[in-house]
Formats: sequence, structure tokens, C-alpha cells
Amino acid sequence: MQRVAVLGATGSIGRSTLDVIGRHPDRFSVAALTANRHAAVLLDLAERHRPRYIAIADGSGAAELARATRDRGLSCEVLAGPAALAQIAASSEVDTVMAAIVGAAGLESSLAAAAAGKKILLANKEALVMAGPLFMDAVAAGGASLLPIDSEHNAIFQCLPPHRPGKLDAHGVRRVLLTGSGGPFRTRPLAELAGVTPDEACAHPTWNMGRKISVDSATMMNKALEIIEAHWLFGVAAERIEVVVHPQSVVHSMVEYADGSVLAQLGHPDMRTPIAQALAYPDRIEAGVGALDLAAFGTLSFERPDFARFPALTLAYRVLEAGGTAPAVFNAANEVAVEAFLAGGLPFLDITRVIESVLARVPAQSADSLEDVLDADRRARSAAAAETTSLRARAA
Ligand code: NAD
Ligand code: MG
Repeated sequence: MQRVAVLGATGSIGRSTLDVIGRHPDRFSVAALTANRHAAVLLDLAERHRPRYIAIADGSGAAELARATRDRGLSCEVLAGPAALAQIAASSEVDTVMAAIVGAAGLESSLAAAAAGKKILLANKEALVMAGPLFMDAVAAGGASLLPIDSEHNAIFQCLPPHRPGKLDAHGVRRVLLTGSGGPFRTRPLAELAGVTPDEACAHPTWNMGRKISVDSATMMNKALEIIEAHWLFGVAAERIEVVVHPQSVVHSMVEYADGSVLAQLGHPDMRTPIAQALAYPDRIEAGVGALDLAAFGTLSFERPDFARFPALTLAYRVLEAGGTAPAVFNAANEVAVEAFLAGGLPFLDITRVIESVLARVPAQSADSLEDVLDADRRARSAAAAETTSLRARAA
């Protein structure tokens, strides 16, 4: 029996994870569920999945939550505050950690799971982007196993040889082809992009996801973060990572070998597939995802990305070249800008402007410790907040 902690249980990935787990009570049990603040949803999930722990990261309302669990006759222990997340991730009562918190808020618990040698199912790409080398070192030192949940990286994982010590080119890998749908604004006239609303940006054509990653898909910042994620996860050089736009989101990514072979993983755009693959690895289990009727799709199409429309893509390669704290700065500036866009007031096209300006104002330094990364994250957030305020004022 695999005891799974789902961090970010109330989110899109969290709920898909619980859906897969619920189909296999013989294989998985839920050890812990966490949320930021949706106590009522967390309570309903706890009633269904009977975890040993539930935790609310934003500590407010923890006392009421504890009372409500007793009223419903639940025996789970209620924890509160951000430290509870790392405590759960490292708990001896947990085998597998689904890291599905959105953003930098997931870094410390993901690192705690790595240090404690857990099986980590990594959806929280921001943690790996911010602290790639530290994270991969923690995984190695803790003897953890890291399985990618991001659909592209899960696809690449499935297309790579299973055991691959050393560099990828030693295994005949020539390139990694990262597919991306291009988001809701792939073909929208450029002049209209200035005025798009948060709801339009979140209406993704193929995937149903949380609001932050949906905006990231609309700016293609999501693909930019994924370039960095692939670099750290697979140890593949930036110049060997190529983005291919594929609007149908059926081919989830590809690996090209020296002999010209290209291996791809295909499937419905449904996150339960990569989640089930990683939960059961190396077995295969039912995920609730139906058969792929390729004839119903008819055509699968591919395009080169439009680097002028989506400047975030170019920035990703620049950030990798700069190294050190640059990816943490890149990520933090985006988080602040996306929040400001979602809250209303910051125009869509200013999201990437904020990121560019913060990268220029917060130069890369070496990232030898978690403190270096967190310090860069803080400095980038305050620079981004200042930039956001001035761009908002200009737009008003
Ligand atoms: P979401 O917004 O739907 O859910 C986020 C979860 O994180 C919620 O449970 C929320 O309570 C929790 N959370 C938010 N802020 C927190 C904080 N400060 N402290 C503790 N918990 C906090 O997001 P999502 O779409 O499920 O995405 C989760 C992660 O998975 C992101 O890193 C995203 O990039 C990645 N991802 C998502 C998808 C997808 O299809 N949704 C696909 C690939 C990767
Ligand atoms: Mg993805």
C-alpha cells in the first residue's frame, strides 16, 4: 500500500490525483491532504479519503477546522501554517508526495520531500525552476525518486531510456522536443492582446487548469518555465531543447535520437494520465481516461513558436544562460505580474514587460544555498511589485 500525501489537494492537479487514487483503493491510501485556505473543500475531501493528517497552510481558521472534523466524526489530525507542509512531506507515515502546490509556496515542502527520500510526483514546476541544482542535489542526497507530472516532462520521461547515468548524449539523445498548445491567444490579432481579460486568458483551448498556470499558458511563460524544468530534470543542455507548437495537445512531447528516431507520447489532454503513470510507475493502471480516437482528431498540426508574440520563450534561454539566481528572479517576477493581472489593472502584455524589467534590475548572483534563492525571490518580488504599480498607473 502506497501512502500518498497530496499537497495542494484542493487544486486542479490535487483533485485529479484524488480521482486516480480513488479508483485504486487496493494500491493507494491517502496519508495527508493540504490546502491553502479552502477549509470547507478540504473537509469534504477528508471525509471521502480519510487521511491521517489535514493541513491548512494559511493558518487562519484552523481551530474551526479541527472542530468541524470532530463534528463529522473524522479522526484526522489538523495541522496549520506553512511549516506543516514540510512536516507532512517528510513524515514517516508518507511514502509518496504529490507536490501540487502552485508557485514558490511549494518550494520548501518539495525540498523536504526530497531530503526525506520520498517518491516525489512533481507538478510544482516553479520549485524546480527556482532552485534547480539545489533541488536535484537534495533528491540525490536524500535518495528520493523524482517523477515528473507536467504532461510534457512526463512524456519525455516515458520516451527516454529507463536507466541513464551520465549525460543524455551518451544515450544517443539528440534533442528534446517540448510541445505546447500556444494557449488561447496563439492566433488572436496582436492589437487585441492589450485588452484581454483574465477570464479570456484562463479559457484554455485544450486543458482545464488552475488560473495561474492558465495565464502562464496564454503568455507561453508556462513553456518558458518548462524549458528550464526540462533542463534540470533531465540534465539536457538548453540548445538541445526545442519548443514545437501543437494546438491539439495530443502529442505531449518527443525525444529525438542520434539515428533520427523520434519517440513521442500521445494521449488525451487529461492530467490523470501522467498522474497515474507516476503513481503506479513502473506499472500501468486505469486512470479514467478513455481511448484516443485519432481519426476523430483527423489532423495533428505542428508550428514553430512565434518568438515575437511570446517573448517569454526567448527570456527562458537567456535566464538559463545567466544561471545562478536568474531562474528564481524570472519565476518570482512572473508570479507577481500574473497575480496583478488576475486581480485586474495590469494589462496582459505588461506581464512579460514586468518580467523583463525585473530581470534587468535584479542581476543574477550565485545560488549556492536555499537562502540565496529565497533572497533573490524576495528582491524580485519587491522589484516586480514596484514595476507593476507604475505600469498599472500608466494603464489607468
Ligand atoms: P490550482 O490553483 O488549481 O491549485 C493550487 C493548490 O495549491 C491549491 O490546493 C491551493 O490551496 C494550494 N496553494 C496555493 N497557494 C498556496 C500557499 N501559499 N501555500 C500552500 N498551498 C497553496 O493549481 P494547479 O493548476 O493544480 O497547479 C498546481 C501546480 O501544478 C502548479 O505548479 C502548476 O504549474 C502545475 N501543473 C498544473 C497542471 C494542470 O493541469 N493544472 C499541469 C501541469 C503542471
Ligand atoms: Mg505542461
